[in-house]
Amino acid sequence: MNSRNRHLFKRYIAQASEFEPFIIDVAKGEGVYVWDKEGKKYIDFISSICVNNVGHRNPVVLKALEEQMQKYLHIMVYGEFIQQPQLDLAETLCQCLPPNLQKIFLLNSGSEAIEGAIKLARLYNHRSEIISFANSYHGSTIGAMSALGNEPIRQRFDPLLPDHRLLEYDNEEPLDAISDKTCCVIAEVIQSGSGMKEAHAGFLRKLRQKCTEHGALLIFDEIQSGFGRTGRLFAFEHEGIVPDILCIAKGMGGGMPIGAFISSEALMELLNNEHPLMGHASTFGGHPMSCAASLAALKLINSPEVLPKVEAKGERIRRHLQEIPQVKEVHGKGLFLAAHFENSRITAKVQERCMANGFISFWLLFNHQALGLTPPLTITEEEIDYGMELFKKSVREAV
Ligand code: PMP
Repeated sequence: MNSRNRHLFKRYIAQASEFEPFIIDVAKGEGVYVWDKEGKKYIDFISSICVNNVGHRNPVVLKALEEQMQKYLHIMVYGEFIQQPQLDLAETLCQCLPPNLQKIFLLNSGSEAIEGAIKLARLYNHRSEIISFANSYHGSTIGAMSALGNEPIRQRFDPLLPDHRLLEYDNEEPLDAISDKTCCVIAEVIQSGSGMKEAHAGFLRKLRQKCTEHGALLIFDEIQSGFGRTGRLFAFEHEGIVPDILCIAKGMGGGMPIGAFISSEALMELLNNEHPLMGHASTFGGHPMSCAASLAALKLINSPEVLPKVEAKGERIRRHLQEIPQVKEVHGKGLFLAAHFENSRITAKVQERCMANGFISFWLLFNHQALGLTPPLTITEEEIDYGMELFKKSVREAV
């Protein structure tokens, strides 16, 4: 490890983790691998937290970026000029979505998508109550943080948005709290921060029904679970429950920064008013480079080579995990998986050994007994076997 870079990193880059971060001084990323500057190879089994769904520097993404780079970079604030990459992306994406999700607001990140969704809900019913679920994370901006599913962490930033209620996830009874006062309910279909915990269809059905009954908008956060992760383009497709607003980012960009919220024509019309750009605006939202990369990644994910194979690849990882007695539970769908260990001490040790052995996994925000396993969707069977052997070795060394 280059000690000067370690010093500069600590000296100049604002740190967000009190404990020692796993420092990899990155030299290159390609496919499912990342190399550090000393030439050590790591297999990326988290896709940079569900960003590199088509792997690092996928050639189709690079080609789209090169082509766009020859034309223009930034031109004008989002929504004022026609920019072809935005149109092409929006048309292709909306063709994959149900009839009530046909208008897209392009932004730069997941947090911004959640902010936009909350604002849209406010304009719709003029209510203030936001409901979200324990152990959920929806972003770091003030609005998104207001929906954080952890009271002590939220309280550090008080006062956040008023009238927030936190309900237990995947429990139908507390959903009766949704009332005529509720502005919106924000939920993940599979909760990433708690270890890819799935909600049962009954819970999601009741959630949808309660929101409809009371005129509250249902916002699905598919910022991690979207773009093919679970074996469908979006996780909500598994259960047939459609939100009023869909928030996306991360895997959307093929490695480039982009996010969006998507809703119906009628709802989105509420952003449009006599004060130009004051419904919602973003200077860089829908950046043409990001849109070009996103479209290339989307087409690849939707091809027969990628999406239809995700489930079988996930099953292959699960079979490997079954050979590890220390793995007590596996949660998630497709390549959106988490291995749960007996306690957080073992999990931390496993992760430490994984990094030492060249296997990138990651801890989860609200469940320190689990490690996320979310490799690129383009990973081959051989790469899965190679990675999972490293994982098994790491567990053996940890216990
Ligand atoms: N929602 C979920 C489920 C996320 O995982 C994240 C990012 N980890 C966000 C929202 C916020 O996205 P961003 O970091 O792009 O603002």
